[in-house]
Amino acid sequence: MKKLKIGISSCLLGEKVRYDGGHKYDPWINEKLGTVADFVPFCPEMFLNLGSPRPSIRLEKSPFKKDEHILVARENVNNPELVGIDLLPRMKSILSENQFTFPELHGYIFMKKSPSCGLSKIKIYEQLKNGQTTFVAPNDSMGVFAKSFVEKYPLTPILESGRVYSDIDRERFLRQIYARAQFCNLTKSISALQEFHRNYKMLLYEHSPVHLNRLGKICAQKVTHHDEVIQTFRDYEILFFQTMNILPSVKNRVNALMHMKGFFKKILSKDEKMYLEKIFQEFKSQTVSYEVPLTLIDYLTNKYQVDYLLEQKIFRPFPRSLYGL
Ligand code: SF4
Repeated sequence: MKKLKIGISSCLLGEKVRYDGGHKYDPWINEKLGTVADFVPFCPEMFLNLGSPRPSIRLEKSPFKKDEHILVARENVNNPELVGIDLLPRMKSILSENQFTFPELHGYIFMKKSPSCGLSKIKIYEQLKNGQTTFVAPNDSMGVFAKSFVEKYPLTPILESGRVYSDIDRERFLRQIYARAQFCNLTKSISALQEFHRNYKMLLYEHSPVHLNRLGKICAQKVTHHDEVIQTFRDYEILFFQTMNILPSVKNRVNALMHMKGFFKKILSKDEKMYLEKIFQEFKSQTVSYEVPLTLIDYLTNKYQVDYLLEQKIFRPFPRSLYGL
C-alpha cells in the first residue's frame, strides 16, 4: 500500500514556525506515524506572512458585534502597525484561495491550543472597559484555520496533537485514515464498493449495527448510470465516516464476536465453543481486554481458513506496527 498523506500543523514536525521561534516536535507523529505517512505541513500564520518569531495572536470577542470574534496581536515590537488589526478575514480566506486545497488528504493533525490550529477549547479573550483582559474557553471553540478546514472537508479524519497520546482517540484516527485511504483508492464501481463494505462489515458492526444496516442498503442499490454510481459513493462515504466516528461499545463488540463465532458452528467442538463464550463473558465483564477474544477469533479464522472472515478489517484495521506508543 502506498504511503498515507496526512496534513499537519508544521510546528509538530519540528519546523521553527511558532510565535516564539520554536517548534512542537512530536515523537509519535514523526517517528511512528512518519514510517507509514507522507506529511503535508502547513502553518497558517506563516502563510499570512507574520514571520517567526512573531507576536502571539489571540481570539477576542468583537467589540462591535455580539457573538463575533476578532483575531489580533496585542503586542508587536517589530511590527507595531499590526497591533489591534483584525486578521480573521485574511485567515478565513486561506482555504478559499484556489492554490490552497487539501482534497487528497487521508487525515489532518492539528496543533492543540492554537487560535489558528486548535480543534477545541480555544481561549477567547475579552478586553474589559477598565483596560484589563479576561478569557473563557468554551468546549466548542476552535482555531480559525481548523474551523474553516473542518467546514470545507467534513469527512477528512482529524486529530488534535494532545489526543495522539489517548489510546482511544489515536486508534480511532488510525482506523479512519486507513479506511479513508482504501476508500479513496476504490475504482468507481458498485462491485468495488460492495467488496469494500463486505470487508468492513464486522468493524462497522462494532461501531453501530444500525448504521451498518443502512450502509448495506446504500451499496445494494441497483445503479448503473455513472451519475448514480457517483451519488451512491457519496452517500456511502458520508454515512461510513459518520459511523467510524461512533465509539464501539462493549455490547456491540460482544455481538460482533458472537456473530463471528457463528462461522465456526460446524467446526468447533462443544467444549471449544463454551471456552470461546467464557472468554467473551470475561471481556464483557472487563476482566480481559478486547484483544484477547479478538485474537482468538483471528487465530481460528486463519487455522480453518474461513474465507469471509479472512478479509475482515476488524482484525487489522491498521498495521500492527502502529499499535501502542
Ligand atoms: S499551531 Fe499552527 S499557526 Fe501555530 S505555529 Fe503551529 S502550525 Fe503555525
